[in-house]
Amino acid sequence: MSNRRFMINARSIRNGFASFDGELFNHIVRVLRLGTGTSVMLVDERGNEHQGVIDQVDRDWVVVKIIATLPPPDSVSSTTRLTICQALPKGEKTDLILQKCTELGAHDFWLFGGRRSVAKIREEQLNGKLERWGKITSEAARQCCRRDIPAVSWFSTAVEAADATSHEVRLLLWEGERKQHLKQIVSSLQPPASVIIAIGPEGGFDPLEVRHFSKHGFIPVSLGDRILRTETAALAITSILQYIWEDN
Ligand code: SAH
Repeated sequence: MSNRRFMINARSIRNGFASFDGELFNHIVRVLRLGTGTSVMLVDERGNEHQGVIDQVDRDWVVVKIIATLPPPDSVSSTTRLTICQALPKGEKTDLILQKCTELGAHDFWLFGGRRSVAKIREEQLNGKLERWGKITSEAARQCCRRDIPAVSWFSTAVEAADATSHEVRLLLWEGERKQHLKQIVSSLQPPASVIIAIGPEGGFDPLEVRHFSKHGFIPVSLGDRILRTETAALAITSILQYIWEDN
């Protein structure tokens, strides 16, 4: 029996059968070489799990017969939801952060234009970027077999992002923080339902941004004396908080 899990859209299931072409067909049939009679688990965008068996493999599509459908396990909602609030970095770093932090368990991503972000996004580029970023998180979710796909949102400025937060715990990774280490702060907290972490771009945070985030309840914390690259900071904080607060 194969315990392979695949992320799917619930719309692909009709009358007890799911059919796939394109990327998913390619992955199941060409890459993994799964054939008729193999058991698979299909997880839809709501976290429902559909147990199935490959029923038919054709030249460019595959049909899975659905045997049983289970609702999402409770554990999904009892885990701390971690939002990475990342100032737009240069070049391909955004892709790296989205891909790796999805694997490491970030719940969703808020990208914003930092005052010191060198990279800029023009209004007319935004839809294309959001589509691309969504593809990266869904591909990474599929690859690591997680059941939900992290959403990616865009805010033009730190002010807009800070104004939108309602997270239980808010942290600001600040290279200028000298007193409060992340360790002290997290060891004094019970696992929260949600946490948001603001991370600056290559040039760091502008003091105005630090002030604005602080006004919205963000606690400035240090990760130590070494100054990490922005993408390293994102991967490190996701790993640390998932290790401390995740329940599995
Ligand atoms: N150019 C800045 C460094 C920016 S590092 C300077 O030289 O001071 C990019 C981002 O990573 C920072 O804004 C911060 O959010 C995070 N970061 C990197 N190292 C950190 C550390 N030691 N403590 C807390 N945050 C850190």
